[in-house]
Amino acid sequence: MSVHGIDNQEDQPLVQLDAVGCTYGAGERAVVAVHDATARVLAGEHLAVIGPSGSGKSTLLHLMAGLLPPTSGEVTWPGLGGSPAGRPGLVGTVFQGPSLLPPLDVLENVALPLLLAGGDQQAANTDAERALAALGLTSLEHALPEELSGGQAQRVAVARVLATRPRLICADEPTGQLDRHNADHVVDVLLAAASELGAAIVVATHDPHISRRLEHSWQVDDGRVRTGALA
Ligand code: ADP
Ligand code: MG
Repeated sequence: MSVHGIDNQEDQPLVQLDAVGCTYGAGERAVVAVHDATARVLAGEHLAVIGPSGSGKSTLLHLMAGLLPPTSGEVTWPGLGGSPAGRPGLVGTVFQGPSLLPPLDVLENVALPLLLAGGDQQAANTDAERALAALGLTSLEHALPEELSGGQAQRVAVARVLATRPRLICADEPTGQLDRHNADHVVDVLLAAASELGAAIVVATHDPHISRRLEHSWQVDDGRVRTGALA
């Protein structure tokens, strides 16, 4: 929709990738992780990024989250009014690897981004408790990360992102360490949160059971991205 000829930011893609390439290293050791990707994510979209290990899924998510600059092409965020880097609450990333801070308990880990974004302690704790409850983690609020299983830590990382109420949720294999029941629950919570927030979600996965629950998919093979709807 346009108002007085000016496109409404709400109708713009959240992320737009134009001929994006990303190469790690240089010379003989260079690895082309993403090759000439042109694609976009729209507001409210539910997208699976599917591909084998090493195909470039994490790199794509980090590019979309503004955590990694492309080495060629351009990543833009028209629907977010510019790069989300340094602007909390726009893009939330659930990292593939361990990302909780060891000295902080679960509640403190989830509340931390809210405090860093300028929230007061009480409001941060309330929002963190709500996100943890949605993931069935209330009983673990005072556990330390070292006391959690891999799957529990992964769910805390999801809660930490949802508590910030982002417009775009990038979840990098968020169910990789979970059994089917817990994996389904995490996807239920991500979809419910996306719908409540009006957020888009991008889930990197190699599990077809997970990708079938998202309407759109990008297939990544050896750094090459093919976009399309899931059959
Ligand atoms: P996926 O998430 O699909 O497993 P990645 O995006 O992690 O794929 O990796 C894509 C390619 O880039 C792989 O060949 C990987 O080894 C390489 N790669 C990823 N991160 C780095 C890095 N920091 N330095 C060098 N190579 C990397
Ligand atoms: Mg990965």
